[in-house]
Amino acid sequence: MAPPAGTRVRAHSAAAARDGLFAPLWWRRPWEHVPYPLTGLPNRIHLLERIDAAIATTAGDGGASFAVLFLDLDRFKLVNDSVGHAAGDEMLVETGRRIVRVIAGRGMVARLGGDEFALMLSTVADVAGAERTAADILAALGEPMWVAGRELFPSASIGIALWQPRYRSGDELLRDADAAMYRAKSSGRNRSEVFGEQMRAEATRLLDLEADLRRAILGDGFEPWFQPIVRLSDGAVVGHEALLRWSHELHGALPPADFIGVGEDSGLIEQVDWLLYRHVFRWLARRTEGYVSINVPPRHFHSDDFAERLLRLLEDAGADPSRLRIEITEVALLDDAPRTLRMLRQLGECGVLAMLDDFGTGFSTLSYLQRFPIKSLKIDQSFVAGLDGDTHAESLALVRAILALAGTLGIDTVGEGIESAQQRDLLCQLGCTYGQGYLFGRPAAASTSGGAGVVAEADAAPSPIPPAAVRPALGSVG
Ligand SMILES: [Mg+2]
Repeated sequence: MAPPAGTRVRAHSAAAARDGLFAPLWWRRPWEHVPYPLTGLPNRIHLLERIDAAIATTAGDGGASFAVLFLDLDRFKLVNDSVGHAAGDEMLVETGRRIVRVIAGRGMVARLGGDEFALMLSTVADVAGAERTAADILAALGEPMWVAGRELFPSASIGIALWQPRYRSGDELLRDADAAMYRAKSSGRNRSEVFGEQMRAEATRLLDLEADLRRAILGDGFEPWFQPIVRLSDGAVVGHEALLRWSHELHGALPPADFIGVGEDSGLIEQVDWLLYRHVFRWLARRTEGYVSINVPPRHFHSDDFAERLLRLLEDAGADPSRLRIEITEVALLDDAPRTLRMLRQLGECGVLAMLDDFGTGFSTLSYLQRFPIKSLKIDQSFVAGLDGDTHAESLALVRAILALAGTLGIDTVGEGIESAQQRDLLCQLGCTYGQGYLFGRPAAASTSGGAGVVAEADAAPSPIPPAAVRPALGSVG
């Protein structure tokens, strides 16, 4: 990152001079070499020049090697938010100092911005050597730090990219070290990960998938599959849950698990949801009986206009709001309870009822059941599966408790993931009214999901979506 305009050029940062880490590069383009005033460390441009120089010399030298490490403090935001920005700054300065001490002249330490640091280790024999240095850095950071009168124990996640002949620029090494750092974060923080071929293949796959997803959004390449929800006593179909499928040109119908990560990271998933909802509402408008439920992830409740937008889409499709249910998870209720409550009430007034999905796996905060207008509870499939497994006794006790609670509050119950007649019978005996699962029907495309009033999809050729309809609400995609 370039220094902000107007930053005073300090040709001799005390720290930089002391560490002697980048003296040879210092004089050429001083405006690009302003160290971050806070830590006195060189910035990204310095580091990239140093790496580029190393690439140039190492390329012709068979044995030598070097590594780039990307370091990001774990939960740094928490420090800023709780102890304050001044304390956060102090922590950054001390972090820089400790890293420099560990490196001890064996390379360059730079601060990239925020709580991100990167370093080039100039003499590294192999991966193990780089990993040892990363471990030393983590150990140094793990020693208690006194900041603003408080003892903190910082930790960091470190990604390592070892130089290889295929690298053409410092940017590439830094990018791969950054990707490895993300892997370190996601595998539990306070650790290092080495960028490897597998990670490269995965990164490429994800990039391709994201590009495919963008194309699919433009081409409306998503469709709902429907799974019946039945009354357990007689097997009558009372409704369907609409499940997202991506009709991928190469891979066929993909379930959300295959692309939700990319969809969320890229902020595209919300647009996908809206495209799906539109299909579902058109399907609903063509049916004469039963309800349909759609899954509404917590992120939608961050948009102030979610309820209005949903109701408008229903109206456009000519579907009856009282035959729509939304499946929400407890996270939505925890996130911003007053706002969610307001939206659920607004939808409820128009007839759209809420079902609490995967009940029993989250916080299962019982008070929410009373506070929020919840029509049904969906008992998570793990409990249903447990009914005829090793955990029979525990599952039975839990299901019984959930049913008793729901019964007291006048809330319907739907058992999820019912696969055997035994599970069905037991749930029915315990007082669960409805059920869903392979025993009654697998999710299927609209044209094959059967039931009265199903109209062939042929008359529902997708029309182009006006840009406003797919544009995510402000503030919901970041
Ligand atoms: Mg669901």
